[in-house]
Parts: sequence; C-alpha cells; structure tokens
Amino acid sequence: MSKKDRGRCSFCGREVPFEQLFQGTDGRFICFDCVENAHEIIEEQYQLSNGAGGVEEDRKRKKEKERKEASAAGIMNSGKLDMQSLPKPMQIKEFLDQYVIGQDDAKKHLSVAVYNHYKRLLQPDTNDGVEIEKSNIILVGSTGTGKTLMARTIAKMLAVPFTIVDATVLTEAGYVGEDVESLLVRLLQEADYDLEQTERGIVFIDEIDKIARKSDNPSITRDVSGEGVQQGLLKLLEGAIVNVPPKGGRKHPEQEFIHVNTQNILFICGGAFDGIEKKIAQRLNTQVVGFESQSKTKRIDKDNMLQYIAPQDLKSFGLIPEIIGRLPIITYLEPLDRAALKRILTDPKNAITKQYQKLMQMDGIELTFEDSALDYIVDKAIEFKLGARGLRSLTETIMMDTMFDIPKENCVVTRQMAEEKLAKIDANRLVA
Ligand code: ADP
Repeated sequence: MSKKDRGRCSFCGREVPFEQLFQGTDGRFICFDCVENAHEIIEEQYQLSNGAGGVEEDRKRKKEKERKEASAAGIMNSGKLDMQSLPKPMQIKEFLDQYVIGQDDAKKHLSVAVYNHYKRLLQPDTNDGVEIEKSNIILVGSTGTGKTLMARTIAKMLAVPFTIVDATVLTEAGYVGEDVESLLVRLLQEADYDLEQTERGIVFIDEIDKIARKSDNPSITRDVSGEGVQQGLLKLLEGAIVNVPPKGGRKHPEQEFIHVNTQNILFICGGAFDGIEKKIAQRLNTQVVGFESQSKTKRIDKDNMLQYIAPQDLKSFGLIPEIIGRLPIITYLEPLDRAALKRILTDPKNAITKQYQKLMQMDGIELTFEDSALDYIVDKAIEFKLGARGLRSLTETIMMDTMFDIPKENCVVTRQMAEEKLAKIDANRLVA
C-alpha cells in the first residue's frame, strides 16, 4: 500500500489506511479505534449516571413505555397485525382528536393512509392481479400548525416502526451531512434491527419543501441540497433495495451492508411551502378566466388558499414531478385561528394548562386559569406572531414566579396577573 492510501488520525497520531478513517468537516481524520474507544467511554459514563444498560437499554425502556401507553388507549395490538385488531380510520382519527386540535382534513387523510398501509401489509396472495399500491402522503401547512405533532401522535399508536427525519439534514451522497439512506438506519434502529419489521415501517420526512429545486439561483452550479437529494429520495419512495450501513455513519467498503427493501415502507412528508399560496392563486386565476369567472372567483376562500393545493403547485414550488408522482395523497393543515389556539391551551389530552395543573398538584396546590387570562395568552401569541409554538413559552413566563415561590394556597391565574408577567418581556426571547 502506498503512502497515498494512508492518512493520519488527528486523535492518536497513527497512520492508517484511508478505509479506517472518518473525515470531519475540517478535513481532519479520526481512526476507527479512536471512535470505538470514545464510544466505550460514553457508554461507561452513561451507565454510571443512569444505571446498568446504557443508551440502548434506555431506548428500549422508552419504547416499551410507549407501547404500553398505546395499548392502554385500546388502539394498538401488542405488535401483532391482523384484520380484527386493526384500528379503523375512524378510531385512528378519534385517537388523533385527543391530541391535535382541528385539522380534520389532514387527520382524515392520514387515518386512511395508515389504515390502508396496514391492509396492504396484510393483503392476501390471491393471484387476481390486483395489488394494493402504497399511498405515500404529503402534508402541507404553515409551521406550527401541527404536522409533526400529528406524526408523533400517530407514532404513539402504531404497531410498526416509525421514525421522523428532517429533510434539511439530508444531502446528496458524498457531501457533508447525512446520506438519504441514513433515514433507513433510523428506522432499523427503531425496529431493533429487525429487518422484516423495518420493511413495513413508516417514515415521516419533515421540511420536504426545503429540498425544493432552487431554479431561481443560477449561481449554484450543483444544487447540493435540492434536486440531488430529491433524486436520492425518489429511489426510496419508488421502492428499491438499499444498502444500509448497519450502525449508521459513513459508508465504508469493508462494512457488511444490510439490504433494506423500501417497497412496503410508507412515507409521510410534511412541509410549510412558504409562499405556495401565490402559486395556487395564480393557477386558480388562470383556470377561472372565462364565462364563469365571476361566480367561481367569489367562492375562493382567500384566507385559506392551501385547501386548493394540487400537485402542479408543488411542481411550481420546485419538487420534481417524479417525487410528486410518488406522493399521491396531498392534504393541508389549516392556519390556527384564535379559537383553535385557545383550545390548544386547554383541550388536548396533554394540554399546556393541564401540564401546569399537574405540576402544581404535586405540591398540593390547585391551579386554575381565568378564561380571560387564556384569551390574553392567545392575543400575545398572535401579536408576537408565535402561533401555537408560542403558547407554551408565554404560559411558562406567566407561571415562572408561581412555580418558584410555590404558593401556600390554591392559585388562580388572572388576566391581571398574566398582563403583569408579560408586560416587560422581550418577544425575541420567547421560543417560537
Ligand atoms: P409543525 O410541524 O406544523 O411546524 P408542530 O406540530 O411542531 O408544528 O407544532 C408545534 C407545537 O404547537 C406542538 O408541539 C403543539 O404543542 C402545538 N400545536 C400546533 N398545532 C397544534 C394543533 N393543531 N393541536 C394541538 N397543538 C398544536
């Protein structure tokens, strides 16, 4: 082996063949031995602080807890799939209703997509030539309207492995960032490396709009974060056998790959698609030119253009047609109005106000919120343009002193108290 085929580990200083090195973003290397040593140290530290078992055990415990929660909700069926115990779309939606406010259209589409996904996995081998195809789904809605919440809630009740990945971390193979295949590594981990389970899992790809083709930027000679990633994803959506490095990380010639078939994996994509309303409006305007234009234009609800979303709008936004073709179900999330925001404060099973009530209850204090105080929190969330994401940080700010002092008697959060606590806050410091 010539010197050219070797590199030096920046940690231990040894010179080793390139196949045994990882390269960092700064161009320096670390050798496999150093990575392994570091892993052992982390594992030991973890066991010291969290008891025996380490990271892996802890993850398994968490999953088991989630499974118990879901079966307590009467939805999931101890991991076994059969037609009798399969939750019906209406049951799936009812489960979603407990956690997610509004968004009926998206809930309905998701419920049916998940139900059909199960049915597809159970379809009998009848030789009648009819094969149920999978229906990947795309959720379009502004940030903070509940896309991820919906995906997480679905995950709670599933009997199949489920993972959420952010499209922004994915890059074309060979670039800094994660290869598209890395999302299958996560699914494998969720399935405890059970290949059969992995191949029937569900993947939620968030921020799919961020890998849109940036055709208006000709200075980029190679669209690293855009079309290349879409092409990579397309392979997975279409159904392919993908070589996945077993423990994640960079691909490496000596590693034994796991061959994952993505044919039966359901993909749910989500994105805000900022500005897509304009493209929808343009399309609708050109469509309604003609005799009926007057009456049709009147019927368009300009405050919620997303409800008219169609595949061609995703194309104008920069998704490649092949990807759109593989996401046959398009649905949208509505903007959250004042009433919806108020309900988010109080109605979901783990609503923000319920969480603070529980915290205070553990100190023996009964906590109540005046209705007008809730209105005030909603007003501020709208004023600061924080949407649903801001409700939590606003309530936290109001509750901080109370939680610090621990009152001697039961406590009512009044509007006056909310106004005082929020009077001097800097909106920029609130987490949106
Ligand atoms: P998105 O993925 O659409 O950007 P998220 O699902 O992450 O938004 O929402 C952020 C937070 O806002 C959630 O954790 C939840 O507390 C709240 N939230 C947003 N939409 C809803 C909703 N429809 N029902 C209940 N809570 C919501």
